[in-house]
Amino acid sequence: MSSQIIYLDGQYVEEGEAKISVFDHGVLYGDGVFEGIRAYNGRIFRCEDHIDRLYAAAKAIMLEIPLTKEEMTEVLLETCRRNDLRDGYIRLVVTRGKGDLGLSPKTCPKATVFCIAGNITMYPEEMYTKGMPIITSVQRRNKATIVDPQIKSLNYLNNILAKMEANRAGVPEALMLNHDGIVAECTGDNIFIVKDGVIYTPPIHIGILDGITRRTVIELAAKLGFALVEKEFTLFNVYNADECFLTGTAAEAIPVSMVDGRVIGTGNAGEVTKTLLAAFKAYANEQGTDIF
Ligand code: PMP
Repeated sequence: MSSQIIYLDGQYVEEGEAKISVFDHGVLYGDGVFEGIRAYNGRIFRCEDHIDRLYAAAKAIMLEIPLTKEEMTEVLLETCRRNDLRDGYIRLVVTRGKGDLGLSPKTCPKATVFCIAGNITMYPEEMYTKGMPIITSVQRRNKATIVDPQIKSLNYLNNILAKMEANRAGVPEALMLNHDGIVAECTGDNIFIVKDGVIYTPPIHIGILDGITRRTVIELAAKLGFALVEKEFTLFNVYNADECFLTGTAAEAIPVSMVDGRVIGTGNAGEVTKTLLAAFKAYANEQGTDIF
């Protein structure tokens, strides 16, 4: 693969030139925020939602982004243009910036901003029809009163540990419960279940990321006339669901075939999941912010 052009602190540079300091607090402490964004068909998917979520997360951690939202949007678009990216995945990262070894961000005068626009590794295509097996991790999702999962921060350690646990179990994704044992979300995806024709997904306040794919699926479900309730539920409800699927920028809407060894529904993609995935794909390919 040819070298990518990366945006870093005001400049577009070759990948090999895109270097940040070992004193960057993003590296030293995971002190920063990020977004994972998709481009479909020459357009950025829900660009404004991603930019708004990035700035909301930065506000929550009192991180001043040295660009306006309009300038940040232009960075996103220009990075895609410079890489001639029409379909792919974009990573936008803002760290606290270069400081010293102390914890205090007082020594970090300016945030570091970078943007990578490249290809995306999807889950294998057959999983979209046959479903994906997952496990429940022993790692709990961050409690919202500690580091609120609504902040898409660079601190993903518990999700990484859960992902490693999934990989050790031979499955691609792990479900995480919140501190009270309520189903929260997966390491990089939100979760939905379907029971007796009603779609359920955990509410944001129990400690999950306000996923942009989740929002889109909620809107599409309403348009398609499905009943959808944001409600707390437990593993019992997941094991006994008729269908289960996960949503995320990379995953879109992927059916779950098995959870902790329990087959979900028929064990294949259910009808509601298939309908929503098709609606999602159509929507993703039809709208968005033009890159070129
Ligand atoms: N939960 C977590 C923990 C995530 O990291 C992500 C993003 N990969 C999601 C859910 C899905 O969010 P989105 O639909 O905005 O990608």
